[in-house]
Amino acid sequence: MMDTDLASLYRDIIIDHNKSPRNFRELPPPREEAEGYNPLCGDRLTIYLHMDGERIREVSFQGSGCAISVASASLMTEALNGKTRSEAEAMIRKIRALLTGDEQGPDPATLDKLGALAGVRAYPSRVKCATLAWHTLHTALEGMHRSDTE
Ligand code: ZN
Repeated sequence: MMDTDLASLYRDIIIDHNKSPRNFRELPPPREEAEGYNPLCGDRLTIYLHMDGERIREVSFQGSGCAISVASASLMTEALNGKTRSEAEAMIRKIRALLTGDEQGPDPATLDKLGALAGVRAYPSRVKCATLAWHTLHTALEGMHRSDTE
C-alpha cells in the first residue's frame, strides 16, 4: 500500500519527466541504438547509447508516446548514465519485476525516483508503456553484445 503523500510525490515525478524529459536527444554516431514500439498505445522510442568499454557514458532517447512511456524513458536515462552494462541489466530486471509482478519485485522505496513507476501497477493496460524504454535499452545492450562477439 502506498500512502497518499508518496502516491502524489510519484505522480508529480511522472508529470515532471513527461513535461521536461531528460536526455531527450539523439546522440551522434558512432553509437548503439534500438527502436521500441508499443502497439497497444502507439508509443515509439529510440534509445541511443555511447559506451565507454563496459560503462554507459551517455544514454538518451527520442520518440513520442504517452506520458508514462516518456516519463519512464526519461527516468531511465537519468538513472543509468554512468552505470556499467551489468548494473543497467540488473536495473532492467528490477523494473520489470516491479511492473509485471511476475516475480518478487523490489520495494519502490529502494529505487529513488524510479519508484514512481510503481504507480503504474494499478493500471495493467499501461504496464507496457512503462516497460517500453527498458525493453528497448535491453535490446540496444544485447545488440552491442552480439557485435562484440562477432
Ligand atoms: Zn503508452
